[in-house]
Amino acid sequence: MKTIIKEVLLDTRQNRELIDITERVIEATRDSGVTKGICLIWSTHTTASVLVTENERGLLHDVISKIGEDFPQRGTWLHNIIDDNAHAHLAVAYLGPSVSVPIAGGALTLGAYQSIFFVELDGPRRARRVVLEVIGI
Ligand code: ZN
Repeated sequence: MKTIIKEVLLDTRQNRELIDITERVIEATRDSGVTKGICLIWSTHTTASVLVTENERGLLHDVISKIGEDFPQRGTWLHNIIDDNAHAHLAVAYLGPSVSVPIAGGALTLGAYQSIFFVELDGPRRARRVVLEVIGI
């Protein structure tokens, strides 16, 4: 059994933003040499998430809009008394900090329309860190 850990560092430009990291995850999986296993994609932040969806411009806009509707910045959140970013923490609480993708035949088993995104929810920020852990044989 192998375990390989890599990091992806990202500078974000928008307050809320989806960044396609699929190619970096594919590369990390290929470089690992693991042919059968799983790849964990883990956001190390409480105000940024990871999501699998279709990379279609309209849909990406819809996802950001829906997050904004469900977690408005101007909500009466108690956390805003100290940090003014409760909306971002709440969105991560619902979206989750990670996704896992099975590996078979040395490749991620992503469907034809599945891409992996880093989800910035309190940007812009520098050096956002995503950990990729490839585990398998
Ligand atoms: Zn906070």
